[in-house]
Amino acid sequence: MKCPFCQNSMEVGVITSSEPLNWLKEPHYINQPQEEGEFNLARPSLAGRAAVEAWVCRDCEKVIIDYKSFWKDKK
Ligand SMILES: [Zn+2]
Repeated sequence: MKCPFCQNSMEVGVITSSEPLNWLKEPHYINQPQEEGEFNLARPSLAGRAAVEAWVCRDCEKVIIDYKSFWKDKK
């Protein structure tokens, strides 16, 4: 994938967490989607961590997350 900001090549990897990864409009006291439009990027599996595919541009220091499928779905 090419970085949309600088056009350099991006490197694929995963972002992991022992907690659910969420996209929220702002931080909530309870770290879960609560408002319309908020959603889980990834949820921990029963035996592991939450993991979602992500591309990094080391020049721009930006990350693009591919949240259409969780990492476990890629195996
Ligand atoms: Zn870049």
